[in-house]
Amino acid sequence: MRIVVLAGGIGGARFLRGLKAAEPAADITVIGNTGDDIHLFGLKVCPDLDTVMYTLGGGIHEEQGWGRADETFAVKEELAAYGVGPEWFGLGDRDFATHIVRTQMLGAGYPLSAVTEALCARWKPGVRLIPMSDDRVETHVLVELDGTRKAVHFQEYWVRLRASVPAHAVVPVGAEGAKPAPGVLEAIAEADVILFPPSNPVVSVGTILAVPGVREAIAEAGVPVVGLSPIIGGSPVRGMADKVLAAVGVESTAAAVAAHYGSGLLDGWLVDTVDAGAVEEVEAAGIRCRAVPLLMADLDATTRMAREALTLAEEVRA
Ligand code: GDP
Ligand code: CA
Repeated sequence: MRIVVLAGGIGGARFLRGLKAAEPAADITVIGNTGDDIHLFGLKVCPDLDTVMYTLGGGIHEEQGWGRADETFAVKEELAAYGVGPEWFGLGDRDFATHIVRTQMLGAGYPLSAVTEALCARWKPGVRLIPMSDDRVETHVLVELDGTRKAVHFQEYWVRLRASVPAHAVVPVGAEGAKPAPGVLEAIAEADVILFPPSNPVVSVGTILAVPGVREAIAEAGVPVVGLSPIIGGSPVRGMADKVLAAVGVESTAAAVAAHYGSGLLDGWLVDTVDAGAVEEVEAAGIRCRAVPLLMADLDATTRMAREALTLAEEVRA
């Protein structure tokens, strides 16, 4: 079975662990969000790709959900001693090595997709991880700051401002001119099933779908497309997805997120059991829907979620 997953960071990575356990023999291609990428200290940092790579490769800081396990922060402290920031973005010493290797390879002319493959040769995530594009795409958020509207980098909005200022728009800058990375459209065309994990619908899955050709390829693949809601009981399980949903005019409910993707894209949608009341509404919109436990509390729970998604895909196919 060939499975394609459009993934952001923590939500996507944790789901992928369950998917691998549910279908150990599956051939899984992960199309990773690169709209969160940021240049810091002259280095190219790809938070979502690294979260997937570290999580599946056994290097993740489990409790935090991002960054490396057993991390130290000597480089960050030394930079701070020079007065060099930003101090709000946590880069540990082990993590720095990944960004140094990546930046060095990019500087030598390798595209990000080839660099990601090289980094994965060490981590062996057990999936094929491809960035959505080799071209630079950077998510910016139009915010209200000190009485004026200005665009800030997504990481500044998310990490420094903790999504606590009003946001009016979310723009994947550069997306309209970006090309899908080599292998992205091919993997979609050859997939037996396409999954949207409980990743952020706006700044993770939404950004991947903004790369021209990706949305069309998924709609034309002619295979079941099934998603899992990141919203449970009206709020994100973790993080601040409600804030970016509001910025694009979408209510923070499992049903509204399904409608946002739309029946033209989505064939099946899983909501949590607490949102069982939303099943009818989602089905009325032409999307097959089931209510199952959607908390990724541990690997077993996550594996069951992945099985439910694949079962729903089979129902759609039949
Ligand atoms: P990020 O790039 O690190 O923000 O990660 P993603 O975009 O992949 O996923 C973030 C989303 O995962 C958030 O909107 C959360 O609501 C969702 N999420 C996190 N943990 C869980 C969980 O256990 N269950 C569900 N259904 N969603 C979750
Ligand atoms: Ca992210």
